[in-house]
Amino acid sequence: MQDNDSPIDILKNVGLKITKNREQVISILQDSKRPLNHQEIMEKLPKGQSWDRVTIYRALSDLESKKILSTMLNGDRVTYFELKEELTEKAINHGHVICNKCGRIECVDDLGKQMPKSVKGFKISSMEVNFHGICKDCQ
Ligand SMILES: [Zn+2]
Ligand SMILES: [Zn+2]
Repeated sequence: MQDNDSPIDILKNVGLKITKNREQVISILQDSKRPLNHQEIMEKLPKGQSWDRVTIYRALSDLESKKILSTMLNGDRVTYFELKEELTEKAINHGHVICNKCGRIECVDDLGKQMPKSVKGFKISSMEVNFHGICKDCQ
């Protein structure tokens, strides 16, 4: 574990211009314990300012192009975003559990699994574990 870099540090490190939109998106994702979709990010933006959906979407794709965001799709093919593990307190190679009904995705840190170094002769560079089921709210 390390102290999280501030959104400004992260933007500087990857050479992106510091904008209010990018800063807000990073800070919302840093505070979130689970991946968020575009709509959920819009809802978490500070009230009292006008935020443009398209601009926020563009900020997300800028961050993705710099490889500081991971994206994943739920069963309804809605894209969810989270910061790379190195930029958060989440465990490396953490997994996800996806609700088949509402599509919500939660992070699963305690997999207790080590990534194998090789599988069938492939040198392994990353591992994804996704569980599918029904969340508490939908049961
Ligand atoms: Zn659900
Ligand atoms: Zn996650």
